[in-house]
Amino acid sequence: MNIHEYQAKTLLAQFGVPVPRGLLAETPAEARQAALQIPGPVWVVKAQIHAGGRGKGGGVVVCKSPDEVEAAAQRIIGMQLVTHQTGPQGKKVHKAWVEQGTNIARELYLAVVLDRGAQCLTVMASPDGGMDIEEVAAKTPERIFTTRLDGGHRIWPFQARALLFGCGLTPAQVNAGTALLQNLVRLAAEKDAVLVEINPLAVTVEGELMALDGKMDFDESALKRHPDIAALEDPEECDPLERKARELGVNYVRLSGYVGTMVNGAGLAMATMDAIKQAGAEPANFLDAGGGANEQMVAAGFEVMLSDPNVRGILINIFGGILRCDIVAQGVVNAARKVDLKLPLVVRLEGTNVEEGRRILRESGLNFETAASMSEAAHKIAALTAGGAA
Ligand code: ADP
Ligand code: MG
Repeated sequence: MNIHEYQAKTLLAQFGVPVPRGLLAETPAEARQAALQIPGPVWVVKAQIHAGGRGKGGGVVVCKSPDEVEAAAQRIIGMQLVTHQTGPQGKKVHKAWVEQGTNIARELYLAVVLDRGAQCLTVMASPDGGMDIEEVAAKTPERIFTTRLDGGHRIWPFQARALLFGCGLTPAQVNAGTALLQNLVRLAAEKDAVLVEINPLAVTVEGELMALDGKMDFDESALKRHPDIAALEDPEECDPLERKARELGVNYVRLSGYVGTMVNGAGLAMATMDAIKQAGAEPANFLDAGGGANEQMVAAGFEVMLSDPNVRGILINIFGGILRCDIVAQGVVNAARKVDLKLPLVVRLEGTNVEEGRRILRESGLNFETAASMSEAAHKIAALTAGGAA
């Protein structure tokens, strides 16, 4: 789960990482008030969206007076901000963060990321911050230093010092940077973050270190342990279908294809998506109805899947274990009736109460095809959805 820069900066400050003074504004008038409360002579107005590259896209504006701050907020709040991370449609800006302008001497890059391959946190640092780190990685990878924290969720001072001297900091800055890095790692470990990124970490003209940007991503499976982090979710940033699915308790991930799928069990759902691809079609979603799903949840999943306008046909692949086939069948029938389903439907049912499930489907009057295997089901739905939009 991603959070906004202003939320990340609040967390950074809580963990002892220096950040500029700032205030949140939802209107230009609030932005002006913020500027009056924050010492000048320079302020920066920053669009709050879940995407990087805001600076280049016009979402970060340096201002020299409260009037300019108000005018910048007027432009930014409500704009559709396009950056290289938002896609061409951009993202609507609802809030702006007004902060004190920093006199920047140099910009560094710092991040703590979960390295899934190495199964530990890894710290990355580069003297070339401020720009896309992907570009540095592509062109001058030797200028990104990494240290795996495979001795536990902590960074030893010698590890931090090696990274920071590599970034060309003075001994006094390395000392401050070591404490900063230790705090950053503590934040990542305590809050179950998979990414904590500061780009840029400014070295100010006065020689201080200051986090000018903050990007954080948290492990969604760990959010139960962190109600404070879970509360930072911004519903306006989520895919509306994924949000609806979560409210209904269904595991749903939207994809870019056109075959809607409903499967029980994450492994079978992944295999089903593979089968659809092998049959030459593209899955529109991952949907795991779960082992303990009831009729209402199956119907809810169906509803979510059908709310995606790209869906041209549906494949239901259920291997009835704890989730019984008759329950799935009843859920499907209810949902299909409710939405007056016109799209092609292929159903593969096996397992507990399969006969009863098949009977319910047969007697429902629904127009659907059955398949004896996953591969057959995938080929059938691929054929039924081939050629053009619904
Ligand atoms: P993004 O990464 O989305 O482009 P940043 O927060 O990194 O947004 O801002 C882009 C650039 O704007 C930074 O690299 C920095 O040069 C400048 N900037 C950001 N915040 C400040 C600030 N408080 N004072 C001075 N310059 C800033
Ligand atoms: Mg940045």
